[in-house]
Amino acid sequence: MELTKKLPEKLLRWYDSGHRSLPWRDQPIPYYVWVSEIMLQQTRVEAVRPYFDRFIAALPDVFALANAKEETLLKLWEGLGYYRRVHYLQRAAKEVVDRYGGVIPSAYEQLRALPGIGDYTAGAIASIAYGAPRAAVDGNVLRVITRLCGDFRDIGSLSVKREITAALEQVYPIGRCGDFTQSLMELGATVCLPNGAPHCKECPLHEDCIAYLQNCADELPVKKPKKERQVFSYLVLILKRDGKIAIRKRTAEGLLHRLWELPNRADIEGTAAAKTYAEELGVMPKSVQCGRSAKHIFTHVEWRMTSYIVTCGAAGDKSLCWVTPKELEENYGLPSACRHFSAAWQEKD
Ligand code: SF4
Repeated sequence: MELTKKLPEKLLRWYDSGHRSLPWRDQPIPYYVWVSEIMLQQTRVEAVRPYFDRFIAALPDVFALANAKEETLLKLWEGLGYYRRVHYLQRAAKEVVDRYGGVIPSAYEQLRALPGIGDYTAGAIASIAYGAPRAAVDGNVLRVITRLCGDFRDIGSLSVKREITAALEQVYPIGRCGDFTQSLMELGATVCLPNGAPHCKECPLHEDCIAYLQNCADELPVKKPKKERQVFSYLVLILKRDGKIAIRKRTAEGLLHRLWELPNRADIEGTAAAKTYAEELGVMPKSVQCGRSAKHIFTHVEWRMTSYIVTCGAAGDKSLCWVTPKELEENYGLPSACRHFSAAWQEKD
């Protein structure tokens, strides 16, 4: 694959004529670029904005992030999902403080070696924050380039991604590397849209774009079908006692690790099972009532949950932490999957 210098020229001209103002773009300091890129993985720009502002207000630099309490981090991340990202973010911040005196490194290889920083994020920080000729190739950029080149290979293939990265890095315009990365992202997000809906007439690349000229943009990019989601069923307990509800901490393994959650168990169902489970937790159930059911979809997994509201006579197991609904809202990071049941714990007994 070969790209020409016309690509950055045309894209930068288009980018300079107007683009979205974003806090991490208007002030591309390394910490802002890093935090925003981690948040933007799996999340849209508009959804990220308020989270980013709140996060930076609470943790304005790498030292604050490195020293933040876990509860603060989880609360700031609540609702963004993929919580492993924020744990890695803090681990990387600690490493930046310990190894680099709090200065986020500019070298791609040093960035890439930090926890939670992959090829894309390292390329984004190196080019946007430090002006290095490193590409940041994500789904948006793969879509733009495969359409532009009429490339029908599978974009899930690592070799295709590497080839596109190398081809882009050959044409990175020294002095405008960050803007070129941003312009590719911007084109993918606002013009070369997915699912067969690109705005080709407004695109600065359309004269050279094979997908446009051959009218096949809706067939690109090519992606192998995803594996089917695995489905898991859970019985969820909403344990209530003296105006409080019980939560517990998830383990360090698996999805949503180290977050708080409502007690739950896979592969049991029904009111009798809910009562037995509550008894095993030692909360002496006085009444058990079936509550609402909800489905929560993660990328590869689907949870089907049924809740049971249990009025309890004892505090039970040490793993349980009893909190008021207000404390829960203000101080504890709870995954969105549990928030389907929030009406039940806000109701007065
Ligand atoms: Fe994408 Fe259309 Fe532009 Fe080609 S011309 S890069 S398909 S928006």
